Amino acid sequence: MNLRQHGGVESIPGLEDPFALLLSAIRQQRLPQSLLLGGEAGLGKRLLAEALAARLLCEALDKDTLRPCGVCASCHLLASDSHPDFLLLEPLEAGKVINIEQVREASEFLQLRPQHAPRRVLLLAPAEAMPPAAANAFLKTLEEPGPHGNILLVSHALGRLLPTIRSRCSQIRLVPPDAGQLSAWLQAQSNLDARTAADLARYSLGRPLRSLEWIEQDILRLRREWLDAWLKLPRQSPAAALSLAAQWAREKALSNLLLTVHTVVIDILRLRLGASSPIINDDFGEPLSRLASRVAIHPLIDFETQWRQIHVARDRNLNLTLVLESLGLAWRDPALWSGAAFQQPEEM
Ligand SMILES: [Zn+2]
Repeated sequence: MNLRQHGGVESIPGLEDPFALLLSAIRQQRLPQSLLLGGEAGLGKRLLAEALAARLLCEALDKDTLRPCGVCASCHLLASDSHPDFLLLEPLEAGKVINIEQVREASEFLQLRPQHAPRRVLLLAPAEAMPPAAANAFLKTLEEPGPHGNILLVSHALGRLLPTIRSRCSQIRLVPPDAGQLSAWLQAQSNLDARTAADLARYSLGRPLRSLEWIEQDILRLRREWLDAWLKLPRQSPAAALSLAAQWAREKALSNLLLTVHTVVIDILRLRLGASSPIINDDFGEPLSRLASRVAIHPLIDFETQWRQIHVARDRNLNLTLVLESLGLAWRDPALWSGAAFQQPEEM
């Protein structure tokens, strides 16, 4: 991650308070041995955990600023990804599980005496990648992390963790920062103008690091193309839905594409229910308002359910073209756009 104005992890919007809380715990020597950082993916939990690990491992931590010295053997080893007192426990392949063997190795790692640093630090990310057997094995590690061990867990889905894992850790839950603060920060990090930065802040649902990734991947341009095609589709023929599905099945940024479809559903629902705050795709306000005035609520909720099933199953071996065809056909189904304007409730 290339942070232009990188003044440390505390400069990332939304991380200031949790970071200050953690520093104060280190200062008072009451940092919990097992810490769980939760919240949506893309808020910066992993960077926060890494910043904390660097402080726990440094042999000459600055007493006042609590910054790692950057020159001790520990700091050098950590920077070169070869610190014997630091272990990153993560899936061996992206999107796969953390297996029970990896958990056992991590448990042994924590029991050993530190070689350089004052502590041994295990960073586990994401914790929900442990299937039940591995999670159960990990519980023992949480119960006995060893006299020198610190465990940092990162989770994008706290609800998917075993309750016993959650209850054995101190939790810090990250939340999205203020939208204005995020969009100002995004402008400082990139060449975005104010309007585009604000669009991105809403579209990323307030997630700073996810926003930066999307700038690098040019997702905003793709988003506009997807929205153009998707918002036109209800006026087009079934053949247009099939042709769009064939095109989208080749899309590399599929999860973003599906997210975009979902933001449209949320926006239309909010417009239909008379929400006043800016919608996610505020830059497409006009076509979205037109659709919102025609939408039938129950079919829209059915559509959302269909979207959710696809989203959950997207990593399995689906016939993607077929799935996208059925989503596109459902979206241009006249029944979805047969809603009458809301009737005001009659006065009693
Ligand atoms: Zn150091």
